[in-house]
Amino acid sequence: MTDEITVIPGDGIGQEVTPAAVDVLESLEIEFAFHEADAGDHVKEETGEALPAETYDLAASTDATLFGAAGETAADVILPLREAVGSFVNVRPAKAYPGVDALRPDTDLVFLRENTEGVYSGHENRLSDDLSTLTRVVTSSASEQLAEFACEFVADGGYDGFHVAHKANVMRETDGRFRDSVLAVAEERGVETEEVLMDAFATHVCLDPTQFDVVVCPNLAGDVLSDLAAGLVGGLGMLPSANIGPERGLFEPVHGSAPDIAGEGIANPAATIISAAMLLEYLGHDDDGQAVRSAVEGVLEDGPRTPDLGGDASTDDVTDAVIDRL
Ligand code: ATP
Ligand code: MG
Repeated sequence: MTDEITVIPGDGIGQEVTPAAVDVLESLEIEFAFHEADAGDHVKEETGEALPAETYDLAASTDATLFGAAGETAADVILPLREAVGSFVNVRPAKAYPGVDALRPDTDLVFLRENTEGVYSGHENRLSDDLSTLTRVVTSSASEQLAEFACEFVADGGYDGFHVAHKANVMRETDGRFRDSVLAVAEERGVETEEVLMDAFATHVCLDPTQFDVVVCPNLAGDVLSDLAAGLVGGLGMLPSANIGPERGLFEPVHGSAPDIAGEGIANPAATIISAAMLLEYLGHDDDGQAVRSAVEGVLEDGPRTPDLGGDASTDDVTDAVIDRL
């Protein structure tokens, strides 16, 4: 069966790195039907809306979406797109690659971040000139759904188990519910778990990232801690991510539209190509996904490299080198 893929390059370097990743996908012996769609600042300028309904509908109906980046309108684009795919988990690997300068070259971990609730649930209130409040939402059902995913992720990836990061010693009710729900599912599935307080995790991951493989987090903690780990691996240009829903997924580099280098043809396409590898694996093309990962790793190690990694190669040079290795 042909995989239906929505492709949304978006703004800035999204216009450069997304076609690069599509070139890599097209070089494989898999039949894809690509649906090109538009979103971002440039669409808002033309039409007044950053995310056209056609784009939303495509993301909500195709098997997977590959997204580049949006500039000022990022929140108006990416939040509805995550909703369109019904995403309940954000998968964010942070891996250091040989040949790439990193603060902690021994970092290789994956965050599984709850993607729908916590303090990002949008329930903020201005109660007076002096007082604003925020309601933190945690449900057993969302926590359990995340835990089910984590158990499968651990089994598929050959990991021993996972860590649960939380702050249930202070937020006893909300993080208590999160922790209890996650641990109950893991116990039922026979998956090993270890708890870690999220503040302590921030210290431990800097001192010795090898203690961690898979880290399951509430929404805000996952956002902050995965960015912290991004700092350990040396640069935004290599960090992929996946937003997974029950029936479809949305795959995107962690970096933004990088207006400072947009249009120069020197953006590092690695993060987007690795996001495409995650897309392949999500669609069941595990061998191809692994082949793409290895090809990118080989190029990161031996070059050619884009200027952010100290080289002088173009986006196309790097993409061609990846395809050559494939
Ligand atoms: P946005 O507003 O869209 O988030 P930004 O200015 O915050 O854009 P980011 O994309 O978040 O830019 O990038 C921050 C810095 O990292 C910029 O200097 C950018 O050039 C650099 N950078 C990000 N991604 C890449 C990439 N793929 N290749 C090379 N440099 C990158
Ligand atoms: Mg940014």
